[in-house]
Amino acid sequence: MSKSYLRIYKEFDITDVEKHLLIMGDLKADCSACRALGISFDAHACPECGVQFKYLSSRRADQHEGERFRIVKRAQEQRPDLTFIDYGDYHKVVGKKKARDFFG
Ligand SMILES: [Zn+2]
Repeated sequence: MSKSYLRIYKEFDITDVEKHLLIMGDLKADCSACRALGISFDAHACPECGVQFKYLSSRRADQHEGERFRIVKRAQEQRPDLTFIDYGDYHKVVGKKKARDFFG
């Protein structure tokens, strides 16, 4: 059996994702709900605002195309309980939503 990662498309409630997303950095992660920094990868809830994490993303996986799947693999191995979301996709949708809220 040969295993590899393929990206899939699924509809998400973006407000829910924003509230429950853990964004992985090199050594620590941050909370997208309150922007708290320095959270450990194994945290189930944010130590600052207390939200439960359901989703996981990585800016690094988005920025380094060649390393993407290695980063995703490491993230999934560390947190198989969270749904991995592509940071570029997430960032684009949130940007559009912010523009809508601002101009609407
Ligand atoms: Zn938080």
